[in-house]
Amino acid sequence: MLALMLLSQPVHAYEVMEKDSGAAMRWPSFPVNWAVNANNEGSLDPNTAAVVVQRAAQAWEVDGTAVKLSYTGTTDAQTSGHDGQAAVYFVDQDWPWDESLLAMTSSYSDASGAFVGFDIAVNTQDHEWALDGNADRIDLQNTLTHEWGHVLGLGHSENDAMATMHASASPGEVHKRDLSQDDVDGLFHLYAGDSEIPKVGCQTVSTSPKALAWLGVLATILLINRRRARS
Ligand SMILES: [Zn+2]
Repeated sequence: MLALMLLSQPVHAYEVMEKDSGAAMRWPSFPVNWAVNANNEGSLDPNTAAVVVQRAAQAWEVDGTAVKLSYTGTTDAQTSGHDGQAAVYFVDQDWPWDESLLAMTSSYSDASGAFVGFDIAVNTQDHEWALDGNADRIDLQNTLTHEWGHVLGLGHSENDAMATMHASASPGEVHKRDLSQDDVDGLFHLYAGDSEIPKVGCQTVSTSPKALAWLGVLATILLINRRRARS
């Protein structure tokens, strides 16, 4: 029956980040504090860029969840690493990852899957950015809203092209600034104890490399049982 077949289809596109053990990765408590280093050699006004990054974070502070991403001010941080300082920063030269990437979120978690830190690097070396949805440039708020989804533990929604967590973005795109229902469902799955949304059974549609030309990030550094050097 058609109705039955429809019901057997995946009801959502979102994916959650998991440890190899299968444990979901999430923040054990809020607020999560972070700072920004908005200095850049491009056209972005640092003060306005910092406000835009905060606006992107606030998109995820949805009623019904305890999610709180608290901006604490500016920092001099220019690299990613589990150093106790969660930072959003811009890279004008020596971008260490693939040049097609717009931004890179690095996440740090303990063995149980609890996040303990993160950093977001924005690639101002290889891409032209704007704060106003300029049709020829990459919109900072559009991209950063996506990155904050990774910070919270969401992967890519490959079969929902309108989701904030869809992997690719194009110049002038701004619709990722606002969460789609799929993004909200993923958020509630992680932070509102909504066990009725199945985590398994998700099907992802493979996307052609062309469609990923503006790949909007991903890449998580998962530190499992991280060993600290002792001297
Ligand atoms: Zn991504």
